[in-house]
Amino acid sequence: MAKIEGLHHVTAIAGEPQANINFYTGVLGLRLVKVTVNFDDPTTYHLYYGDGQGHPGTIMTFFLWPGAMRGRIGTGQLTVTSFAVPERSLPYWRKRLHKRGVDFEEATSDFGEEMLFLRDADGLQLELISCSNADPDRIWERGPVPTEHAIRGFHHVTLSENGYERTALLLSQTLGFKQIAKQGNRFRYAVAKAAPSTIADLVCAPEGRSGRVAVGTVHHVAWRTATNEEQVRWRGTLTKLEYDVTPIIDRQYFHSIYFREPGGVLFEIATDPPGFATDETVEHLGTSLKLPPWLEKARPELERLLPRIELPRIAGGKADEAA
Ligand code: ZN
Repeated sequence: MAKIEGLHHVTAIAGEPQANINFYTGVLGLRLVKVTVNFDDPTTYHLYYGDGQGHPGTIMTFFLWPGAMRGRIGTGQLTVTSFAVPERSLPYWRKRLHKRGVDFEEATSDFGEEMLFLRDADGLQLELISCSNADPDRIWERGPVPTEHAIRGFHHVTLSENGYERTALLLSQTLGFKQIAKQGNRFRYAVAKAAPSTIADLVCAPEGRSGRVAVGTVHHVAWRTATNEEQVRWRGTLTKLEYDVTPIIDRQYFHSIYFREPGGVLFEIATDPPGFATDETVEHLGTSLKLPPWLEKARPELERLLPRIELPRIAGGKADEAA
């Protein structure tokens, strides 16, 4: 049986690349793990952030559309992306966000987790969830946040649906998720041991306005599968269930299939291999523009067309001041 291991990555749309880099590396302290272009629109950037090694389950990626229209967050979308932070780190994060002028709200989730709710530079909805069981190795150890407070990958994602039942069936009967909790109109699903980065919340919002995908919204969510062979099996299973599944696409750092779940969210199943250290070493991840072989001959032109960006300096193991 093919298995889904949890979240692989979340891909959203942002506006100005520099504001995006400054927020995710400078404020949240993630590592920029890959600077490349959108393979389907190579005159725009595709930026990947994550932990130090670029592990699946920590990867937040963005298509950069400077000057484009803002989208609308609503049903049929992944509406909130939640990162895990260690227990007792929220006071640090409150101070850090406050100092950097980032607005946030303190909240308790439907399942009793303490958290901070915030938005990035383009209005994308994020949460920092205090939790005791996130993997302490899933951090960027040379980023600006002290390692004891650093983000430890994703906690969960929230999918907002007009009706949740067909999506729930896809998760539980096909993709191997189990419902592990329920509160009001929120249904929590997870694979494996329900650890952070394996959780999806379905929110049933029948009156909700449907979302419009553009700047400040999520484009798709990718689930992990361990091998190329398993992915072939996933494609077969989903096709048999009459999902419109794309062929397997080479994304250079993983292989992907895409299909739309019944509530409208674009799902991807992405392989763990080969990973981000295929065209540069782990040490040098995210330090220069990487292009797939088929775009390499267009590099001079692409470099001329892409907006100039300043890449983050690696702090060299020294976190910035306490907050
Ligand atoms: Zn993707």
